[in-house]
Amino acid sequence: MQNFKAPQRDTLFVTNELFGFEAHYQRLGFEDATDDLVRAIYAEAAKFAENVLAPINASGDEEGCQFNDGVVTTPTGFKEAYKQYVDGGWPSMSHPVEYGGQGLPYSLSTSMAEWFSGANHSWAMYPGLSQGCMETLKAHGTEEQKKIYLEKLVEGSWTGTMCLTESHCGSDLGMLKCKAEPAEDGTYKLTGTKIFISAGEHDMSDNIVHIVLARLPDAPAGTRGISLFIVPKFNVDASGNITDRNTVKCGSIEHKMGIKGSATCVINFDSANAILIGEPNRGLNCMFVFMNMARIGTGVEGLSATEAAFQGALAYAQDRTQFRSMSGVKNPDGPADPIIVHPDVRRMLLTQKALREGNRALAIYCMQLVDITQHDQSVEEKKLAESKLALLTPIVKAFLTETAQETTSYGMQVFGGHGYIKEWGMEQLARDTRICTMYEGTTGIQAIDLLARKIMGSKGELLNVFTSEIKSYCATIRDKKQFNHWSNAIESHVDEWLQMTHDIGLTAAKNPDELGAASVDYLMYSGYVTVGYFWLKMAVVAQQKIDDGTSEVDFYNAKLQTAKFYFDRMLTRTRSLVSAINSGSENLMQMDAEHFYQG
Ligand SMILES: Cc1cc2nc3c(=O)[nH]c(=O)nc-3n(C[C@H](O)[C@H](O)[C@H](O)COP(=O)(O)OP(=O)(O)OC[C@H]3O[C@@H](n4cnc5c(N)ncnc54)[C@H](O)[C@@H]3O)c2cc1C
Repeated sequence: MQNFKAPQRDTLFVTNELFGFEAHYQRLGFEDATDDLVRAIYAEAAKFAENVLAPINASGDEEGCQFNDGVVTTPTGFKEAYKQYVDGGWPSMSHPVEYGGQGLPYSLSTSMAEWFSGANHSWAMYPGLSQGCMETLKAHGTEEQKKIYLEKLVEGSWTGTMCLTESHCGSDLGMLKCKAEPAEDGTYKLTGTKIFISAGEHDMSDNIVHIVLARLPDAPAGTRGISLFIVPKFNVDASGNITDRNTVKCGSIEHKMGIKGSATCVINFDSANAILIGEPNRGLNCMFVFMNMARIGTGVEGLSATEAAFQGALAYAQDRTQFRSMSGVKNPDGPADPIIVHPDVRRMLLTQKALREGNRALAIYCMQLVDITQHDQSVEEKKLAESKLALLTPIVKAFLTETAQETTSYGMQVFGGHGYIKEWGMEQLARDTRICTMYEGTTGIQAIDLLARKIMGSKGELLNVFTSEIKSYCATIRDKKQFNHWSNAIESHVDEWLQMTHDIGLTAAKNPDELGAASVDYLMYSGYVTVGYFWLKMAVVAQQKIDDGTSEVDFYNAKLQTAKFYFDRMLTRTRSLVSAINSGSENLMQMDAEHFYQG
């Protein structure tokens, strides 16, 4: 989309007015992250997204990546944009000063990542993967590894990848086969093939640091026998200087539906030099740092697609004229009224708007939790934030990307047939964002993570922690009579959520398939209630601003009107989800696999 605008005002509403980020940053010791600095960073990020990334989005899709004998060339302008990104200091923003970073909060760089992805999803994949690689090294690397690899990644002269998937295993990593044999000098020789590796090979950086899952020779079977390794594209000496080429080669790149400017690579490791990160056989635990960050990042990609689709559809609906409004002419000087007068077009636009703003609140709330887990001095606060984040990570990943399928589809639908052709960028958004429900763990896998691992695995404790927050908040606004209706709706959903969880636990004790049968509907239910909670909070803030005599009455009124739309038309989607959940597993499991197709 050529005219993408970074949503500065809405982001500031969420960070400052909803979540009190000015105080949050000061409390965590980010003295430099003053409101003035944050606004200056927003302004620069907006310029970069709008003027550098958006103009090469459609051309990047058209041109795609080229592969020639192991060498990948990214679309015209991608490399130059990456150089500008590095020159602007963006890679280092939220990393420690001791490794060359700027020491700013994670939430600041990740909300900017939303804008970069909204402007150009494919391009944003390259720095996005690097961020996860840096987080893994920060959390699990030795000081020497950090000195050699992290500094270059923070600087942006090297980029990173995440190498998990093999042809026979994606979700079920316990089956992976890549092998790492110990070498005499304490390093390893890694052999095997990884597929679907984003940013696995490209022309933007001097070196590529692959973070690779592989097995040691004596490793136990399954996920308990997986270790994590650094495998650089170019070998590096003890001072961090590039020496010669490692035996890592890109075998091919995929031809795919969307994100065509993002190189999705087959990577062959042929006895490649590798260095162990963390403990042997504990690789999956280390990789979870990367995966959790990447899951929030993928949810944010979904949000960014919703934002871009909404912007495109709204501009078109205000301009395109078809028919007269049923309730009387609205554009007497023209031959017809703009399509935004039609209730059904408004239904689509408001669905996009309600998800754009509600989902942003959920995403930024999670970013705030990450800040706390990384920087809070209080052990209790950290533990509380970790619990909430554990529960919300699969929700943010799956709910924001599943709803992006609907919002980007509406992006096309609002345009009618013009949405289906390339010119307007709407079909590209739908294609680009389609992958988001699949990579970083499919929606099905996130749903099992939420219901089986997080909720049942903690005997409901993680859910209790978050629902207590919601209930406490609802109790604090009881005197605000005009919000009782919405607040009661959220509270009764919370009761239903807890009861339903208890009931699923009981049926699953007798039949484990009940968990899988309920899981995706349960996750979507959790998403609608969670976003409903944030809409309630946003409405209360908006009303307060109006009562205080704000000069931005239209902005806050629109928040209240969108909240009404959400409570009337979107939170109510939980009814059909509850019916599906309560129907149990039999309707899914009774048919024999060989009877699915009857001719
Ligand atoms: C463009 C692109 C970029 C990618 N980037 C990377 C990358 O950078 N690094 C990397 O390592 N990988 C990457 N991947 C791989 C991606 O993460 C995997 O494709 C994904 O995890 C799913 O694995 P799979 O494709 O093997 O599907 P499978 O695991 O075979 O799953 C197939 C289907 O079965 C379902 N399923 C499987 N098990 C269960 C279960 N227990 N319960 C319910 N449903 C289940 C899944 O939900 C899915 O619908 C990328 C993929 C693509 C297409």
